[in-house]
Amino acid sequence: MEDGVSNVVIIGSGPAGLTAGIYSARAGLNPTLYMGSRYGGQLMVTSDVENYPGFKDPIMGPDLMEQMRAQAERVGTVLIQDDVTEVDFRTYPFVIKTPQEVKRARTVIVASGANPRRLNLESEMRLMGKGVSNCAVCDGFFFRGKKLAVVGGGDTALEEATYLSQLASSVTVIHRRDTLRASNALQKEAFSDPKLSFMWDSAVAEVTGEKKVDGLKVKNLKTGEERWHQFDGLFVAIGYDPNTEIFRGQLDMDANGYIIAKNETETNVRGVFVAGDVHDFRYRQAVTAAADGCKAALDAERFLKESRLASR
Ligand code: NAP
Repeated sequence: MEDGVSNVVIIGSGPAGLTAGIYSARAGLNPTLYMGSRYGGQLMVTSDVENYPGFKDPIMGPDLMEQMRAQAERVGTVLIQDDVTEVDFRTYPFVIKTPQEVKRARTVIVASGANPRRLNLESEMRLMGKGVSNCAVCDGFFFRGKKLAVVGGGDTALEEATYLSQLASSVTVIHRRDTLRASNALQKEAFSDPKLSFMWDSAVAEVTGEKKVDGLKVKNLKTGEERWHQFDGLFVAIGYDPNTEIFRGQLDMDANGYIIAKNETETNVRGVFVAGDVHDFRYRQAVTAAADGCKAALDAERFLKESRLASR
């Protein structure tokens, strides 16, 4: 960074960003990683993680992120706990601004993630990780033989519901309207699943339980009637909001705000790469995000080498 320009700036500190940090630091590129004011991504609100390879026993989400953070730092990633508030990818080197500083970079890896939408109930947040979840693949295993509810009517909700029905005793999809937004193929699969049923025109008014979920107060939106139902778990699957606001107008995005990638990690701006949930609405796993971060770092390194730009 002899000229004050970073070889690699990484935006985001979930598994994608930290893995990009580990790889680009080990390649001698002295990366700077902006962690955001809240570091660690979605795993910071996850309890037991049983599907991240390398840990025989379950590891708590925040502990896993602490391991990744410490690893990235040990190999030489410079971690800055600040939010990126503005970028300029129209000039080169690229410009990255935080409230504290202005950084210039030869490559940028965008790994700013996506936030699951919440029902915004106090009880939902209180019981998050104690029966309330946003991820069937992550947490479904803990609910074998249990009675579950899924909220939402889109592709994610039906995918989660059909996945969970293989493990649970029953799954009820609670949807606020009487028609689904999900694709026809997913609807067909859901309607023919004997363990799956629907509560139409309904909204979760409260998640009940002290230490773990024991049921839901569900409001019928047509009649206004509220009734309690016994459930062991609630999967909130009402969509995600990718953290892409600061890239709007500069990086190509789909209608839902996800960054469009070609050749796995490339954006429409040469030298700007993307990794993790900020572009991937399909897999959304810690391990796939980490793999993405690795690919983005290798592609950034290749870009620098091909352009013979890297300063060590
Ligand atoms: P989505 O399509 O935006 O659907 C969100 C669902 O949640 C809708 O049914 C919506 O109800 C409901 N909802 C939203 N806010 C709510 C609230 N506050 N309370 C209760 N219900 C609420 O989100 P998604 O299912 O995550 O899909 C996002 C994108 O990814 C879509 O383009 C989808 O096709 C894609 N995707 C594709 C696949 C696949 O191809 N296999 C899998 C997953 C996702 P309304 O219908 O009433 O608005």
